[in-house]
Amino acid sequence: MKNIVLFGPPGAGKGTQADFLKTLYHLIHISTGDVFRNNIKGNTALGLLAKSYMDKGDLVPDKVTIDMLKDEVDKHPHAKGFIFDGFPRTSSQATALDNFLNAKGTPISAMIALEVPEQLLVERLLNRGLTSGRPDDQDEAKIRNRFNEYETKTAILVDYYSAQHKFIGINGVGSIEEITDRLRKAIDSL
Ligand code: ADP
Repeated sequence: MKNIVLFGPPGAGKGTQADFLKTLYHLIHISTGDVFRNNIKGNTALGLLAKSYMDKGDLVPDKVTIDMLKDEVDKHPHAKGFIFDGFPRTSSQATALDNFLNAKGTPISAMIALEVPEQLLVERLLNRGLTSGRPDDQDEAKIRNRFNEYETKTAILVDYYSAQHKFIGINGVGSIEEITDRLRKAIDSL
């Protein structure tokens, strides 16, 4: 069982790479951003709540996000493993994930971080905003706020997983294929 936290700031390429990796390794890909966006499309109560935070580039509250993540994992009792994309994003999410997975006897194998300089991230996000329809991609102030959320609440998780000897940093600059190759080498070494 491989449980991988795919980590990195907004625009690092987590979703793109997770799509390849889930097929290669037969893993279930859970993107919290995608689950929230599907709920917004479906006009659910969860979607309405999440939208008020997401549109501003703020994080959705931990309790809501953690409960949702657990539900998603529990939908796949026979999974060979998971790629967590966009989760955990705070220390309490990381602790909740560890407690949840350890209780199942299927701990996190590694946190793999895609490392990309901020200026390139802003360009990628503004570009994506041209076609994604995502309000949080279309305005540089919102993008800056997402980086601020990342710097103040999320980046600390590098230390959290390093302390468990589970942190792997990957250069996230290059072609999509090159980056997939780097990720494969990291995952195959687990
Ligand atoms: P990106 O990584 O490109 O910013 P995501 O699709 O992963 O995009 O997330 C979009 C938004 O969804 C975030 O800005 C945040 O509002 C919300 N979100 C996603 N995952 C989480 C999480 N783990 N905790 C809190 N909010 C989250």
